[in-house]
Amino acid sequence: MRLRHKPWAKEKIQQFPQYVVPNPEEYKGKWHEAFAKAQPLHIEVGTGKGHFITEMAKANPDINYIGIELFDSVIVAALDRLIEADLPNLKLLNVNANDLAKYFTKNDVSRVYLNFSDPWPKTRHEKRRLTYKSFLKLYEEIMIDGGEVHFKTDNQGLFEYSLLSFSAYGMLLKFISLDLHHSDVHGNIMTEYEQKFSEKGNRIYRCEVQFQS
Ligand code: SAM
Repeated sequence: MRLRHKPWAKEKIQQFPQYVVPNPEEYKGKWHEAFAKAQPLHIEVGTGKGHFITEMAKANPDINYIGIELFDSVIVAALDRLIEADLPNLKLLNVNANDLAKYFTKNDVSRVYLNFSDPWPKTRHEKRRLTYKSFLKLYEEIMIDGGEVHFKTDNQGLFEYSLLSFSAYGMLLKFISLDLHHSDVHGNIMTEYEQKFSEKGNRIYRCEVQFQS
């Protein structure tokens, strides 16, 4: 993602603590207290400008959602969407996914979405891929038993790598599409990257995998 420096981003985020949670460690083990209703929690890691997570939250009021994004200059766009939509079941976290265990504990999360995660194609950067085994361990540690990871990308190399990583970790492959936009899947909510890359003619890959206890 091309990053434009936005010196005002941090201050704007601080003005909306009801949307971008400023003290996420305080909700560890009790995230239902951050939301209007106690219901299952789904998170998107690397939420970008937030189109996917906002539309998911609108479409599924019986699920709580958290969008997690590292860069303040990016998450402000997701914040603008949330200010506009004012959804009771969506929060944003401006934190690094490496630190998920600081903010969540076992059984906090039912599903993790990974959408168009950075591919980090160089072997020496493998550990940064959000489907590397250390990230899978992190997700497993904060999820319910049988929690699911739903993953979409247009990057064939990252998709193949991730399928191997999920399998080596002992996860169950529940669904796979090698060409999502030319399949009979209904109700797909597009992300910003998905829109951009599918318009270029790129094929979109998607899978759903589950932790086995
Ligand atoms: N999911 C969005 C989409 O599909 O349009 C954005 C995709 S973009 C390629 C990947 C996003 O993940 C970037 O905004 C990046 O800042 C974020 N990201 C990457 N590594 C992260 C990490 N360790 N913690 C939080 N966010 C991360």
